[in-house]
Amino acid sequence: MQAPSRAVSSPPAAAENAPRKRRPPRRVEVSRVQILSPAMRRITLTGTELQGFEAGDPASYLKLIFPEPGQTEPVRPLPDGPRATSMRTYTPRAVRPEAGEVDVDFVLHGEGPASTWAAQAETGQVLFLMGPGPGYQVDLQAVEHLLIGDDSALPAFETILARLPATARVRVLVEVSDAAEERALCSPAQLSARWVVRAADKQHAGLALEQALRQAGAPAAQSRVYLACEAAAMRRIRELLTGELGLPRSQIIGRGYWKLGAVNHPDHDYGEDA
Ligand SMILES: Cc1cc2nc3c(=O)[nH]c(=O)nc-3n(C[C@H](O)[C@H](O)[C@H](O)COP(=O)(O)OP(=O)(O)OC[C@H]3O[C@@H](n4cnc5c(N)ncnc54)[C@H](O)[C@@H]3O)c2cc1C
Repeated sequence: MQAPSRAVSSPPAAAENAPRKRRPPRRVEVSRVQILSPAMRRITLTGTELQGFEAGDPASYLKLIFPEPGQTEPVRPLPDGPRATSMRTYTPRAVRPEAGEVDVDFVLHGEGPASTWAAQAETGQVLFLMGPGPGYQVDLQAVEHLLIGDDSALPAFETILARLPATARVRVLVEVSDAAEERALCSPAQLSARWVVRAADKQHAGLALEQALRQAGAPAAQSRVYLACEAAAMRRIRELLTGELGLPRSQIIGRGYWKLGAVNHPDHDYGEDA
């Protein structure tokens, strides 16, 4: 028997607290590994289970599950099972539905299930992929754009750059681990890019970005900013933008893409904490 319908709507808090429905994991195989720079690998993932996968917005994300130590391939996660400890967040850099392929660009930053795996990745190796999750709503009417971040945000920046109209101006400020990481960026928009190298000690992540931003001075008042880097650095740079440089907070999207000393930094921490 059908339950009688009730005209009672759930309070918003209940809706927010409802567990997010996870998309089923898709088994994917490595079909190509490209060296983009000494510390960046482009890994193409393919598989019949990728059917229907679409990237949607620029700077959207996917989750990848890597093999645990001793496994040759990860175990397929159960729909409502616990989260795999070796799951990490990445940007779908390019999605080619007709070929059933997704490109993911990995920073080789050192120890970590994702970085360690990417450094040894070979054709035929298996991962599980989940997502996609929402990305950045590019304001197509805005004339001035500013992308500020480190190497982990480069793939996201490139997806944003590709969407900007020719009428827009975009300034990119990227912090990398070494000058050899610099590479050409392109966009239909009028693009200027500045690359800065961070100090060898990770504790200084974001410092070179902050300094370069200060040197450059206040961005145009209407600039739309996408800011993504180490979480604490992101908070400092966002403060610099809204304080000294006078940009309204509403024009800035800030994302902590990783966090010093934290394993699998949760991407829902958008830097609101102290
Ligand atoms: C929405 C979103 C999109 C992202 N897209 C990409 C992407 O396309 N490409 C990409 O390379 N990364 C991307 N990242 C960042 C990536 O998820 C993290 O760097 C992740 O922590 C890497 O996992 P891991 O297993 O290598 O290291 P973890 O096990 O998570 O961390 C191990 C140690 O390494 C440090 N660490 C982690 N990441 C970095 C880093 N980038 N640089 C220096 N030290 C680090 C941590 O502080 C920790 O001490 C994205 C993050 C988010 C939230």
